[in-house]
Parts: sequence; C-alpha cells; structure tokens
Amino acid sequence: KSPVTEAAIRSAVNEAYEKYKSAPGGANASYIPFLADVDPKLYGIAVCTADGKVYEVGDTKYEFGIESISKVFVLALAMEDRGPEAIQDSIGVNATGMPFNSVLAVELEPARAVNPLVNAGAMATNSFVKAPNSAAKWTRIDDIFAKFAGRRLPVIDKLYASETATNQHNRAIAWLLYSYGRFYDNVDESVDLYTKACSYGTNTRDLAVMAGTLANNGINPVTKERVIKADHCPKILATMITEGLYDSTGDWVYHTGVPGKSGVGGGIIAVIPGKLAIAVFAPPLDKAGNSVKGQLAAKYIVDKLGLNLLDGR
Ligand code: GLU
Repeated sequence: KSPVTEAAIRSAVNEAYEKYKSAPGGANASYIPFLADVDPKLYGIAVCTADGKVYEVGDTKYEFGIESISKVFVLALAMEDRGPEAIQDSIGVNATGMPFNSVLAVELEPARAVNPLVNAGAMATNSFVKAPNSAAKWTRIDDIFAKFAGRRLPVIDKLYASETATNQHNRAIAWLLYSYGRFYDNVDESVDLYTKACSYGTNTRDLAVMAGTLANNGINPVTKERVIKADHCPKILATMITEGLYDSTGDWVYHTGVPGKSGVGGGIIAVIPGKLAIAVFAPPLDKAGNSVKGQLAAKYIVDKLGLNLLDGR
C-alpha cells in the first residue's frame, strides 16, 4: 500500500465533509434529555496521524458528550492495572450481538457474553480499575483521559446530572452482574464513575488525538507522551472490532474493515494502527445508536485513502 500523503488526507476529509453535510436520517438520542437538545446540524471531522498532524473541518471545536467512546479509554486504564488476560477472564471480550444496554446479554451468559464496550461490561471494567476509593479512582480516570487528549477534559455537569437522573436501567444491569460475581468494586460508586466518564465533554479534535494515541501504539502523537503500553493497543482495538458499534458492529466492519467506536452523543472514532485515526461528530443516530453522518464520513475517508485493513491490495 502506498503511503498516505498530506494532500490526500486533506482532500478526503474535505470531500467527506461536503458529501454528507446534508445527509438525512437519524435522530438525536432521546433517552438522555440533555442529548435530545443538542443541535442536530452540528458536524465536524478531524483526522490525527500517527506522527501528530491534525486535519479538521466543520464544527470540530464544539464540545459534546463523549458517552460510550469513554469506554475505550477506561478499558485502557483497567488493562494497564490488570493486564489483557484478566480483562478477557474477568470482563469478557466476545461480541454480545445485542443492544448497548442489553440486560439479556448479561442474563444469558454472564460468564462470557459481556464486553468492555457495552454498558454492562463497561461498568464492570470501571469497577476493575485499581484505586483505594472512588475519589482516587476518578483522579486516575481523569489523568489518563487528559493524557490521551493532551488536555484536561471537562465534565459537562448538566449532562452528568441528566444521566444520573435517568440511569436506573444501567444500575439494574450493574447489580445483575454483581449478583453473578462479575463486578469488582462498590456497585453504586462504579456506576456513578461510569456515568461521569460518559459525561466528559470532548470536541472532535480531542477524539481524533485520543484515538490517534491508539493508532500510534500508545504514545500521544501530539504531546509525544506514552499513555499506555504498546502491547495493549491491539487488544483494545480488538474489542472495538467485536463490539465498537454495538449490535451493528458487524455491518461497520463489513463495510470499513477498521476498528471503530461510537457514542450516543454523536461521536465516532476509527483507528488505523500505525497510520491515523478519524473522529466525526454529528448527533443524529441510527437505530443501533451510531451517528449516521459519522459512519458515512468515516467510511468515505477509509475508502478514499485505501485504509481497509482487510484489503490486501
Ligand atoms: N451513558 C450512556 C449510557 O450509559 C452511554 C451509551 C452510549 O454511548 O452508547 O446509556
């Protein structure tokens, strides 16, 4: 495969932006009141290369809820603490094939059918992070997110409050996992920290740099700081391949051939190891909870730059 030039990236990003700017379809997440009120027309794309160049177009400075994309980075922290094998054994790395907040996934096969990138497994992953208490755990989460993004990220207080007031379903899933011995710290506190991490405000550029750190073998490509062990990156990306877009992960991988992760705030990241990361923000979601324009734009860039990892040409 030929190297991807700066000019090629710049035009792929601009073309993807123009092509899908007015793409119809989808609706904001409505089950979290704060998300329902975000302007559905917002749209931004950022690409961060493994050598730290960032390309941006559109509303890339707008701060939105990171939501499920936070799961990737809390997983990274838990993996630093416990190692990849413990993640496989104690959380699980198989696809659930079910919606992001499925109770059934836990109920059917609690010993294997959760994954760090769906709600149940993500809350268990949060409980798996080592810390003497909840305040210390939050400091650790906050520190690693800051290293991934290259800046300290704010929590959007209104979003955090909105989610806390409406997260009964998540609490039920967490207690169910606990009943099966698959939860590793105080349940209510872990759910709270999970909810808080979902409420981080990130802009599209932040997400590109965070994902770019995974593309750059664990070193933030902009700050050049090592954030996680290089060995862990392929393991994290593997969970994105199996579960990054919930029950439509198969469709995503079928069309793009790259690991991705979406969030109900309208963000989506895609990582091409050793090369670059793509981040897109556009709030309207499809039925599985994935940004409609985000998927289209990321797929366009992957195709245009020949980044499909499953294509040997
Ligand atoms: N905080 C959201 C929840 O727990 C995240 C879901 C998502 O982005 O998929 O429902």
